[in-house]
Amino acid sequence: MARDDVTKILLDESEIPTHWYNIVSDLPEPPSPVLHPGTGQPIGPDDLAPLFPMALIMQEVSSEPTIEIPDEVRDIYKLWRPTPLYRARRLEKALDTPARIYYKYEGTSPAGSHKPNTAIAQAYYNKQEGMKRLTTETGAGQWGTALSIACNFFGLECTVYMVKASYFHKPYRKSMIEAYGATIYPSPSEQTQAGRQVLGEFPDSPGSLGIAISEAVEDAATHDDAHYALGSVLNHVLLHQTVIGQETIKQMEKAGEYPDVVVGCVGGGSNFAGFSFPFIGQRLRENKKTRFVAAEPQACPTLTKGEYTYDLGDTVGLTPAMKMHTLGHTFIPPSIHSGGLRYHGDAPLVSQLVNDGIVEAVAHGQTKIFDAGVQFARAEGIMPAPEAAHAIRSAIDEALAAREAGEGRVIVFNLSGHGHFDMGAYDAYFSGQLEDFEYPEAAIKDALTKLPPSLAGVT
Ligand SMILES: *Cc1c(COP(=O)(O)O)cnc(C)c1O
Repeated sequence: MARDDVTKILLDESEIPTHWYNIVSDLPEPPSPVLHPGTGQPIGPDDLAPLFPMALIMQEVSSEPTIEIPDEVRDIYKLWRPTPLYRARRLEKALDTPARIYYKYEGTSPAGSHKPNTAIAQAYYNKQEGMKRLTTETGAGQWGTALSIACNFFGLECTVYMVKASYFHKPYRKSMIEAYGATIYPSPSEQTQAGRQVLGEFPDSPGSLGIAISEAVEDAATHDDAHYALGSVLNHVLLHQTVIGQETIKQMEKAGEYPDVVVGCVGGGSNFAGFSFPFIGQRLRENKKTRFVAAEPQACPTLTKGEYTYDLGDTVGLTPAMKMHTLGHTFIPPSIHSGGLRYHGDAPLVSQLVNDGIVEAVAHGQTKIFDAGVQFARAEGIMPAPEAAHAIRSAIDEALAAREAGEGRVIVFNLSGHGHFDMGAYDAYFSGQLEDFEYPEAAIKDALTKLPPSLAGVT
């Protein structure tokens, strides 16, 4: 029975999950292999050893149903976990909907998003294996913040390559990353051969996540005491985020509810996966009827318009190739786009679930995304990150559809972070400068002709 007297559902510290959940154990088909960019052949754990600690590589290829969370990681999780689940009563009222809307709020972490859930784990395993420094990329700055916090906790140095356009648009993210002791460069930079190569060809390049990944990977691969850390996309990153969905299942139980629709936004897929995979596992094992909605921007429509094929993870071609929905690894996000979620590819596990019809993907234009973000802030008080506003858009659309149908559907979405560093984008919205932009199909087709010869025709 749904309880009608709850607004906020909290869990005790002791209820932080003890294990991460691995969806690979419940998938109808095993994931497609990861391929070497030069040979087009499947790679093994040793190929990844220059970049990642063996513990993370084993998680990357694991099909165990669960993996225990180390005590040191769980102890740090206690700084902000368990995170609250809210019933969005005031939003329900504003929408005049019979739907019951819940949201899990990940903005209470020190970085302001879900990203520390994996940053802490990644820094821990790297420290265990004797690394001195981690390198990474960051787009809007959330991941760079999360990793710099984690490195600081474990006494690791941290080098962050930040997409140049964001570096200059979001100076306070840069300051925050520096406050935690990391070194930060605008990417493309002169620090790496990859950066110099891009600057040689495009001196005014605004950068992209694909380029910044190339720089961070090169830096790690050419220094023995450094490893690379990725904030999304990879299986082990999605795995670490499953604390979100596991807590949500417990909290929904306490509310006396089970969701009809589970909604999240997708950039590389980590918060969506972390939130939805524990529920998807229940659907796969117990035949539940729950729907899963992945929300993305029309300006970077990876899941809705991208091709499901092998592509590289970075622009220059230093990373392995993964089978995923992709806009092509040379993708540069349109400069007019303000809402984040700008990666050219998507997590292979999320892509596979979309391809199998288990997850539905929806793309939204940015004015409607900011409409939803502001409507949510006015109703519930929390200023959402523009990324999270994609999920809010889809949740509101589901609630309005429930009103049309006159049905009391139960909607739960992941509010992946707060928007306190994103007010520049809200400014652009309030002053009418945001334009909707649909990424052209022809550009995707063109980018996919630039795959390396080793991958041509591999499906
Ligand atoms: C980074 C980020 C995202 C997108 O990344 P995913 O890996 O798709 O989760 C979404 N929301 C917030 C608040 C973020 O910081």
